[in-house]
Amino acid sequence: MSIAENLTKIKATIPNHVKLVAVSKTKPNEAILEAYQAGQRIFGENRPQELQKKQAELPSDIEWHFIGHLQTNKVKYIAPFVRLIHGVESLKLLQEINKEAKKNKRIIPCLLEFHIANEETKFGLSIEEAREMLKNTAFSELQNISIQGVMGMATYTEDETQIIQEFKKLKSIFAFLKEEFFKQQDSFSEISMGMSGDYLLAIKEGSTLIRIGSSIFGNR
Ligand SMILES: *Cc1c(COP(=O)(O)O)cnc(C)c1O
Repeated sequence: MSIAENLTKIKATIPNHVKLVAVSKTKPNEAILEAYQAGQRIFGENRPQELQKKQAELPSDIEWHFIGHLQTNKVKYIAPFVRLIHGVESLKLLQEINKEAKKNKRIIPCLLEFHIANEETKFGLSIEEAREMLKNTAFSELQNISIQGVMGMATYTEDETQIIQEFKKLKSIFAFLKEEFFKQQDSFSEISMGMSGDYLLAIKEGSTLIRIGSSIFGNR
């Protein structure tokens, strides 16, 4: 099937309130353009320099999301244009994003990444770490970032019960943070969870942003 056909098929399975991030990491511009011509506007990348290059070469109305692990020394490559950074997991990184956002006279939307999987290889905060960070006065001084929700990756497993449990955990973390820190902030509204293998489960559990790569573009 073509990229356009894959997109049509996936879109038919997702409700209107869920946004689709087409994960185009490692894929060439031609593949991204094919998805673009089929109407897709949100794309996700996980390498800052690769993202910077693609942004310069591709249509300017693409909404670029950064979805991977971001190193502080590479924030500068994406700060001028990135629309959402999905995986923030430290105050130090937030401070750096804030600094680069300020240089670019922007406010950069970010999601906090939580460790919900049963695998040590995956990144993310614990709820205790997040609370500590959000209570820190250094956090309240950051004027050029906006925390808009949470992100997480479930364990890579066939066990649906486990995946569902992990998505439920992220949803409850979202609800807890909303209540304790973001009650007055309407833009704290996103739950980024679900990939090619588990996005239907994620939507059932309350995902608002799904990140799909291989089901659109083929295997990497
Ligand atoms: C690669 C990647 C995806 C997409 O994975 P697929 O299984 O190809 O859909 C989603 N989220 C993150 C953080 C990724 O790194």
